[in-house]
Amino acid sequence: MDVRVLGAANEVGRSGFLVNCNGTKLLLDYGVLFGRRGSPPQYPLHVKPKDLDAIIITHAHLDHSGNVASLFVSGNADVYATPPTFDLSKLLIEDMLKIEKNSHPFDLPEVNNMMKNAKEIGFRQKVTKGNATFELRESGHVIGGSTVLVESEKKRLFYTGDIKTHGSRMLREMDLDIGEIDLLITESTYAKTEQKPRKESESELIEFANEVMDRKGILFIPSFSVERSQEIACILRSSNFKHRIIMDGMALKVNEIMFRHPDYLRDPQVFSDAIRHATSIREHSERILAMKEPCVVISPAGMLVGGNAVYYLQQLSFDSKNGIALVSYQGEGTPGRKLLDTGTVSTRGKDLNVTAEVKQFDFSGHADRKELFDMIKNIKGSPKVWTVHGDTESCEMFAQEIHERFGLETYAPKVNDEITI
Ligand SMILES: [Zn+2]
Ligand SMILES: [Zn+2]
Repeated sequence: MDVRVLGAANEVGRSGFLVNCNGTKLLLDYGVLFGRRGSPPQYPLHVKPKDLDAIIITHAHLDHSGNVASLFVSGNADVYATPPTFDLSKLLIEDMLKIEKNSHPFDLPEVNNMMKNAKEIGFRQKVTKGNATFELRESGHVIGGSTVLVESEKKRLFYTGDIKTHGSRMLREMDLDIGEIDLLITESTYAKTEQKPRKESESELIEFANEVMDRKGILFIPSFSVERSQEIACILRSSNFKHRIIMDGMALKVNEIMFRHPDYLRDPQVFSDAIRHATSIREHSERILAMKEPCVVISPAGMLVGGNAVYYLQQLSFDSKNGIALVSYQGEGTPGRKLLDTGTVSTRGKDLNVTAEVKQFDFSGHADRKELFDMIKNIKGSPKVWTVHGDTESCEMFAQEIHERFGLETYAPKVNDEITI
């Protein structure tokens, strides 16, 4: 079995790995890396669609799914993923094309073509293509999100995609019953970081929400539309929160998709109870009306880039009664990062000081350092290890540490590196 790195080498974004099982070619993920400050998006190395026997998407996040449709300009390979991954990928890719018009090498017809070739599979459902057998396993990272096991000629590859070993309020734990492995390709996003226990972050957020309500303010929680928004709604509901919870923007479409796939949730009852108790905003008049009394507003975008977040930010930032809870990762150069670092927002070209109380909370969807090592401890055999999907320092340090702790042969590969097992 040969594996070639097409992307996500010393970076978070544009994941892509080409697996050649004695002539049978599988592509694991094919994502996008968004350009910073107006620079164009980047993609994994090019592959010829007609050479591919199967494409496997681990999960819907665009750094894993965002460039799959480019393979359907001329090709028609089978694409495998879980049902929620297909539904969410379609939503996210279409949204990306709407926001970044004409900056990608494909458009809606290719997305439709991709969906026509979609082969839905469940977790632990084995598929055989030529010389390869593969299956998806639960990753705990996002609804329908999976890891991939590939088996060929008695060699086994385990690719983590993105993982959260503990899962979340919405998602079950990662499936760690992987068995003996010859090559492990693991994400390294938070290999350097220890996260706060989820329970602590949850109590802090609930406390902050109640403080803001007590002073008759509105709490704005800009949040990723996939999963984080729903998780926050569930956390507040579980605390018997007395005030209104408003959900807005693309999170509502994601709610619908999640309702369609209850089997992929940890507890569908908890989810539906939280969402049914929240108020969905469909029109601007409802938005204005909703903000007449103390409430919590959950709306994308998580990093305050575009969408309704801009509206809420302008409305709520300049009153000290209000609060802003940042619950998502804030990338460099985003308005969310700026708010954290400087306490200002840009309004009509001017930077204005925010008087609302701003707090950040730790709610990562990725395994932290401890979880990553726990995952590796669980793997049997003496696999070679590739550390990917992290900045250079994280990937290299993680590789070094795995080698020291477990005596495994490890490497933080570069794009186009190849390995034979
Ligand atoms: Zn992800
Ligand atoms: Zn990712």
